Order: sequence, then structure tokens, then C-alpha cells
Amino acid sequence: MFPQNTKILVVDDMPTIRDLVKSQLRALGMKNVLEAGDGQAGFTVIENAMALGLPVELVICDWNMPKLTGLELLKQLRASDEFASLPFILLTSESERDQVTEAILAGVSQYIVKPFAAKAFEDKLKAVWNKLGKAS
Ligand SMILES: [Mg+2]
Repeated sequence: MFPQNTKILVVDDMPTIRDLVKSQLRALGMKNVLEAGDGQAGFTVIENAMALGLPVELVICDWNMPKLTGLELLKQLRASDEFASLPFILLTSESERDQVTEAILAGVSQYIVKPFAAKAFEDKLKAVWNKLGKAS
């Protein structure tokens, strides 16, 4: 599982969803959580953290957002040198289920369909961590 000091960025245009994700992360002991309200703001946070030498290590991101969607943010990251392999979990709604293939092709690490239970959330995080090849 991700260490509790992992720098995690939560991106969602709905504050209630951000709060929900943050509280689930807190319940897992995560202590280093940032947030942003759209994909563009999220990208700025990711760039600034990298510039400071304290990069974001996991992104948990909504799909449907103004300015830059989660899928667009994912594609932007994957197209870059620095963030091509940054772990990225996409939060989708039931109506976006059919579009998930596009996110998989774009290199998403995992996706979670909202609403989700705490256990499912934890399992997805573990799956992403295990994929990084650092399972212990
Ligand atoms: Mg949204």
C-alpha cells in the first residue's frame, strides 16, 4: 500500500466529492493530501510540486470537470516526460462507464465508479500500488 506520507492530489469540481475522497484517504492514514477544483488547476499543482522537488505521487481525479476534464488531464500528463508514469486514478460516474476504454487506452492506472464504498476505494489504491511493483 502507498506509504502514509505519499503526496496525493485529489481533483474534483465538487467540493463534497473532494471531502469524501479526502476523508477516505484520512481513514487510510494518508497525511499529505492536496486538492484542486478542475483539471487545469490540478495540472498547476502537479507542476508546482515538481518544481519544488516534492512531486505529487498519486492523482485521484474526477472525469467531468470544467476547463480541463480528467481525461484531458490524464492525456496531458501521459504526453509529458516528467509525468508519463504518474499513478492516476479516474473517478467516473455510471454514465461514463462506456467511455472508460478511452481512459484505459490513455494510460489510466485504475478507475472507480461513483458512488464507491470505502473498501472498493482502498482496493483500487492497493491495486495501483501493486502495479508499481513495490508491493510489500
Ligand atoms: Mg465533476
